Amino acid sequence: MKVAVFNTKSYDRNFLETTNANYNHDLVFFEPRLTQETTALAVGFSAVCVFINDQLDKTTLRVLAAQGTKLIATRSAGFNHIDLNAAAEFGITVVRVPAYSPYAVAEHTVGLILTLNRKIHRAYNRVREGNFSLDGFMGFDLHGRTVGIIGTGKIGFLVAQILHGFGCQLLAYDLYPNPDCEALGVKYVDLQELFATSDIISLHCPLTPQTRHLINAQSLAQMKSGVMLINTSRGALIDTQAVIDALKSRKIGYLGLDVYEQESNLFFEDLSTEVIEDDVFQRLLTFPNVLITGHQAFFTEDALQNIAQTTLSNISDVESGRPCPNEVSAQRVVATKSG
Ligand code: NAD
Repeated sequence: MKVAVFNTKSYDRNFLETTNANYNHDLVFFEPRLTQETTALAVGFSAVCVFINDQLDKTTLRVLAAQGTKLIATRSAGFNHIDLNAAAEFGITVVRVPAYSPYAVAEHTVGLILTLNRKIHRAYNRVREGNFSLDGFMGFDLHGRTVGIIGTGKIGFLVAQILHGFGCQLLAYDLYPNPDCEALGVKYVDLQELFATSDIISLHCPLTPQTRHLINAQSLAQMKSGVMLINTSRGALIDTQAVIDALKSRKIGYLGLDVYEQESNLFFEDLSTEVIEDDVFQRLLTFPNVLITGHQAFFTEDALQNIAQTTLSNISDVESGRPCPNEVSAQRVVATKSG
């Protein structure tokens, strides 16, 4: 299939090109993100391959369909960047990579917890400058602390499994309790109890209308003073301004983010010589107890290999008319949510 691969970095290209030896698709790589302004690059391509910060709103999809695009293959698990109703309306099939490495994201999550707690990122710089003072570096034992996990699917379960090894007490909230978590001894509680009793709260649910700004002024008010909040899921689960207020009032003692509500204007690009105009993001960076990574939790060689493999296999399925297990549609999402 002739595929326009948008938003490609050298690492995407390397893995897709190598894996394509087994598939023989006609891949053409474009560095720009897919936006309304760049849709013209996709003229003549029946498939368009995208990532999470590409824009697949109704207007873009209408133009793509008119240009002959029949398939959107996203190299991500999440698909909140794609208007599925519009895709259906314009006869465009959407496929995704439901799981490429939940281990990568779970391990990065625990990395954020450990780094924030023990100030490893600050110790790195201090020691290199010959400063061996320990002032400001005191942490706490994870053993025995209570961790609340919101969303216990593939990633949330693995976070629970790793932290179980550390000897943490594990609480969870999910619409559908995971029997593997229950077998591990995770206790399912309502959100109110999770907020009130957790020392660390980690978010692993998808972004939906129900979960948007799940962490807001009201939920923060219910949390323990000095709580550690970790978000490696989606930025808009958090009301960032409310979190800034909670950092200023010391309600939040530690904040670890791999995702940010307005990240599509920032992440994955080298902006080190640019003026960043996002004052909310810049304010977050001023706190000593905030650690932000730029949506890199997924970024392992294992995950990139799986993304390339599943994406190309999805495209082959659709090309040959086979049912693709990784197709997403508005109806299927509604059906999954209702049980
Ligand atoms: P998953 O579908 O396996 O698990 C999601 C869980 O959230 C499910 O158990 C579901 O029942 C639960 N859930 C849904 N709505 C909920 C609600 N309103 N309240 C509580 N729980 C709810 O997904 P996963 O593979 O574990 O991924 C979790 C999230 O991680 C994804 O949605 C994605 O946003 C994010 N993610 C981030 C990265 C990264 O690099 N930072 C990479 C992959 C995925």
